[in-house]
Amino acid sequence: MTATETRDDRPLTAGVMGWPVAHSKSPRLFGHWFARYGVPGTYAPLAVRAQDFETVYRALPKAGFRGVNVTIPHKEAALALADRATERARAIGAANMIRFDPDGILADNTDAYGFIESLRAGAPAWSCDLPALVLGAGGAARAVLHALVAEGVPAIRLANRTPAKAERLAEAFGPAVEPVDWERRGWASEGAGLLVNTTSLGMAGQPQLTMPLEGLAPGAAVLDIVYAPLETPLLAEARARGLTAVDGLGMLLHQARPAFHAWFGIDPEVDGALRDACLAP
Ligand code: NAP
Repeated sequence: MTATETRDDRPLTAGVMGWPVAHSKSPRLFGHWFARYGVPGTYAPLAVRAQDFETVYRALPKAGFRGVNVTIPHKEAALALADRATERARAIGAANMIRFDPDGILADNTDAYGFIESLRAGAPAWSCDLPALVLGAGGAARAVLHALVAEGVPAIRLANRTPAKAERLAEAFGPAVEPVDWERRGWASEGAGLLVNTTSLGMAGQPQLTMPLEGLAPGAAVLDIVYAPLETPLLAEARARGLTAVDGLGMLLHQARPAFHAWFGIDPEVDGALRDACLAP
């Protein structure tokens, strides 16, 4: 079904709420799909401070919005204030995609989906049989852990600078997740078939990530969810070692697909043209 075939006569309007939000690639991403699928839609960046979140959130359906993406710092509040939530949003403890239904606000989380789809696309040979090492225990790590547990990865080693946060996530996500010391992350990579960086280390303006890669299994996949810069030093080193490097832009592109479908009735494609549109200066 296309958007124009739906009986929904609201404007084709959506957006992204965050603070800050000016750097977001989502308006460009949705703009590309609007053009590609002939949808006369609008996708607005909505710069909203934490203290104004609830007021704006509740007002958007009255302004004709079909839904919004939600980013830092509103992901937990978006879940808490919704009338209904998907199982995956509740399990992750945060929402990044909201649909304004006639009977209330539905909160969903598509980050885990975006992560696993980008991993499948970027590292088709990756198999969930080997252990994985995840760096970081913030909001993004929760989505990554949810996806890896759902895939049945037997052992997920979780290293975080603040150990208590890794321990809390291990409790929340079950026995497959094992907290390991941040200082022992090199040791914890022994035999792993997947390394995922979910810390902000390596991002423009942040310190570099120091991570020895020699212990990873041959042909292991290394996914850095940082996407500014696109080619982080971690990915460059992984490539130089003949490992499969997957950048963080794929996760961002794939997490948007279910939103476009939920709001506009079209399942859009993630392809090279979309990546180019998002990367254009
Ligand atoms: P967050 O909740 O603030 O978590 C940040 C993580 O980075 C924590 O584990 C933190 O450790 C760690 N960290 C920060 N500075 C560190 C340092 N100097 N040394 C060691 N660890 C450090 O943030 P988030 O929402 O999870 O996002 C993390 C990154 O993922 C950001 O760069 C974000 O842009 C990116 N991201 C990308 C996508 C995508 O679609 N590609 C989606 C979501 C997020 P502590 O717990 O010890 O503070």
